[in-house]
Parts: sequence; C-alpha cells; structure tokens
Amino acid sequence: MKKILVLSGKGGTGKTTIASSFIKLAKSKNFADCDVEAPNLHLVYKQGTYNSKPYYGLKIAKINQEKCLNCGICQDNCRFNAIDFNGLEYKINPYKCEGCGVCGFVCPQGAIDYIDSVSGSIDLYQDNYLFSTGSLKMGSGNSGLLVTEVKKQLDKNYEEITVIDGPPGIGCPVIASMSGVDFVLLVTEPSFSGFSDLKRIIETVEKFKLDFGVCINKYDINIEVSNKIKSYLKANNYSFLGDISYSEKVNEIINNRKLVVDSNTIVGKEIKDIYINTMKLLNW
Ligand code: SF4
Ligand code: SF4
Repeated sequence: MKKILVLSGKGGTGKTTIASSFIKLAKSKNFADCDVEAPNLHLVYKQGTYNSKPYYGLKIAKINQEKCLNCGICQDNCRFNAIDFNGLEYKINPYKCEGCGVCGFVCPQGAIDYIDSVSGSIDLYQDNYLFSTGSLKMGSGNSGLLVTEVKKQLDKNYEEITVIDGPPGIGCPVIASMSGVDFVLLVTEPSFSGFSDLKRIIETVEKFKLDFGVCINKYDINIEVSNKIKSYLKANNYSFLGDISYSEKVNEIINNRKLVVDSNTIVGKEIKDIYINTMKLLNW
C-alpha cells in the first residue's frame, strides 16, 4: 500500500480540500479521515453502506453510592476537579474525569468503580470505495487511539494510493496518523502563525524520518510571507510542490459538497499540478 498523509500543523488551512482532491486524482478506493475532532471528508465522500461502532476511550470513575461514606477524600485528591458534592452525595463529572485512578486508590471504602465510556464512534462507508472515518465526542480525550482505530479499518492489501486526511496540530493524533505512511503532504498558508506552525510540523515529521513536501494554500494573500516560506524550504532542501491561489469560489464549491478539483477553476488546476509534482517526486 502507498500511503499519502495530508497534514497542516493547524486547522483551517485547506487540508481537506486538498486531501479530497488527491483522492479523486489518485482514483483511490481506500482512504480515511483521521481528523477525528472535526471530521468533514464525509461531506463529499459519503455513499454506500454505513457502519458505525462505539469508540471506548479511557474508563472513567463512578461512585457506588451504597458503599460511599461521603468522606470527601476522593474530591480532595482529584487533580482534575472532576468530583462534585451536591450537599447529599459525591458524584463524578464524566466530562472532567481523566480516568487517572487516584480516587479509587485513596477511597477507604472501595466505593469507586471504573466503567467504559463511549468517547466517540468509528465509522466506515463502503461503496465502490472504502472510506474509514471517526468522530470524537466533545470533551473526550485520547483522539490518538481513535485515529489508530480509524486507520485499522483501511484495506491493508490495497495496492494503489491510499490518501489520509490527517488531524491538525502536532500532538498525539498527528503522531498516530503518521505511523506507516510513505509520504506527508504539508499544507500551509502565508501568515506568520502559519509559517511558525509549518516549522513545528516539519520538525515532527522529520523526527519520524518521513518524506514530505509542502504546498502553500492562498499563497497570494501574502506574497511576502509566501516567498519567505519558499526561501526557507529551499535553504533547507525541502520539497516545494506548488502554490494554490485564493478564490472565493472554493467556499462555494465546498458548500455545494463538490470537489474543487472537478471545478473549472484556477484552484482546481493548481491542485492538479501539485498532485502531478507529488507523483513525480515520489516516482509513483
Ligand atoms: S473517598 Fe470513597 S467513601 Fe469517600 S466520598 Fe469518595 S467515594 Fe465516598
Ligand atoms: S479517575 Fe482521576 S480524574 Fe477521574 S474522578 Fe478519579 S481522581 Fe478525578
């Protein structure tokens, strides 16, 4: 399997626009959305049979009121302020509990159990393609584990190009998304924060010794910063794969749940060029 992962270092850079176009251009029948905190690839690829199963993250605490003596020791020791007292009984706030186990350790009554809690869903669409995705419930942690579950649903025997829309940032879910990929396409934008995030994600990708290339989305909203990014890439011998122009039509196309690459726009043409450059770079 040849796997391309699309990352951006931060949200809102147009990562999914490019990933969805790469899926079409590569004629991929095997792809995933690992941006589990804000998945949106299903807005354009959502067909065929749909299966969803619950995702269980860490177990969370639950007080057995029959055993509890209301001593408050658990509350005094919870670093996450996840235990409330309503004047009658102590209760765990499931949105704050991190499942650390301290309350159960200190409770003199053995009144605390740890129970499974549904933290999200693992979803699969099967049509003439296999599309794996997932969604984390608001306030739930452990998105890295969910990313791993989403990737497990991909067809490992698929021989053509698998495209993965990755999570934003540089944290645990990004690291989980990088395992086993062949190439990372980094999407940045020409702002000082975008440039700074790009450097951080490059550091992360390099730590995992992965090949990568960079494209600049909306390069023309700040040509000066775009040029600085390109000089930085050149100075470090990093691959630059192309520019994408700013166009108000992109939002219109996305809102109509269409693929930008199918549109007769300059942006569609530029994404195709980036795809061609990526294939040349990889010799695929
Ligand atoms: S430490 Fe145990 S007994 Fe004390 S309030 Fe908490 S759950 Fe109840
Ligand atoms: S498991 Fe940890 S975070 Fe959850 S209530 Fe107990 S002490 Fe607090």
